[in-house]
Amino acid sequence: MDRLSRRDFNTKLAKVTGAVALMSVSSLACAMGPNKDVKKLGIALVGLGSYSAYQLAPALLETEHCYLAGIVTGTFEKESIWARKYEIPEANIYNYENFDDIATNDAIDIVYVVLPNSMHADFSIRAAKAGKHVICEKPMAMNVEECDAIINACKANNVKLGVGYRLHSEPYTQEIKRIVKEKPFGAINYISADAGYRSTSDPDQWRLNKKLSGGGALMNMGVYAIQSVIYGTGENPISVSAQEYSTRPDYFKDTDETITAQFEFKSGVVGNIMTSHNIRGNRLFASCERGWYELDPASTYIPLAGRTSSGTLNFPQESQQKLQMDDFAKHILFDNPNKAPGEMGKRDMIIVEAIYTSIAAEGKKVDLNFLPNYGFGG
Ligand code: NAD
Repeated sequence: MDRLSRRDFNTKLAKVTGAVALMSVSSLACAMGPNKDVKKLGIALVGLGSYSAYQLAPALLETEHCYLAGIVTGTFEKESIWARKYEIPEANIYNYENFDDIATNDAIDIVYVVLPNSMHADFSIRAAKAGKHVICEKPMAMNVEECDAIINACKANNVKLGVGYRLHSEPYTQEIKRIVKEKPFGAINYISADAGYRSTSDPDQWRLNKKLSGGGALMNMGVYAIQSVIYGTGENPISVSAQEYSTRPDYFKDTDETITAQFEFKSGVVGNIMTSHNIRGNRLFASCERGWYELDPASTYIPLAGRTSSGTLNFPQESQQKLQMDDFAKHILFDNPNKAPGEMGKRDMIIVEAIYTSIAAEGKKVDLNFLPNYGFGG
């Protein structure tokens, strides 16, 4: 069989595979009435780097409402390796050039873009035009303009859009949101968040190349710290002032190494973040009128840990990626809340741009009072 006719054959096979994925899901049967078959949605991962290989694909073996149906890769050798490992039919394997053909593949419901940041907008928009729901990894894009383009493409093509903010599906993070809502320790006075690691490997990696990453620590880890101060207070900031530090300029030639930023909030909360590709940091801490709460670590995969002034938090540990992708599938299948909508990714990019603007103006306070309230995740 040549490649084309084999693709036709496999497209049929993929539809059969999709049909096999019609599963009775007992928890849903309760909600929808007995004996209702619920389709597991097919996800195609675009970009088979470390996050796809070591986190998302293994998580998709555990998900209840979606499964790994396809792959999109620029590396030909990965096709057969992944096909064998995850039993992916050839009809569901694409490269960057023929990716748009995915439009005719009924086995793929969701395209998950896991590429360097500079490629997020292009592939998210192409996925939306192909009529597929989109999950786009963080940071959502290179800038606010690209975020808007992704959001508009998804709206125009009537598909759902989520950002890969896995923590919104994670139980310790949910508990912080509950504390923020119920205020058992009274009003919050101060919030601080750190997100960083020490980068020493390949100085030519894409994360340190501004054309591919859009920026350094702030784009990569800073979005976690920004997220933390927002869900950790339940408020958007109204202003930011920021500073940049460079201690290893020979290694960080093109992108920011360490950034600190201070936020004001309408309620009077004062906030501070530190993000770095040179300094380890993985913490959220809030001081309140009558106590405090903390996650440490706050943004690693698993396990997170947390404490409050009343005691230790203790929640079961599950794959955050499994929870996140199931939540997005339930958003599509049952209209459950979208825990990390595209607008949230755009809001964070507005803050990222404001931080870079403040740094360029030597720490000048930048107004954020116009930020729309996109919600703090379900
Ligand atoms: P990676 O470097 O391990 O993989 C990148 C993939 O993109 C590779 O398969 C590579 O072949 C492909 N690629 C295509 N064009 C490329 C180019 N010009 N240069 C380099 N690679 C190219 O990266 P990763 O860690 O898998 O990150 C991918 C995306 O996922 C990023 O946006 C990152 O921020 C995000 N991410 C999110 C989390 C999370 O917890 N949500 C964790 C890790 C990564």
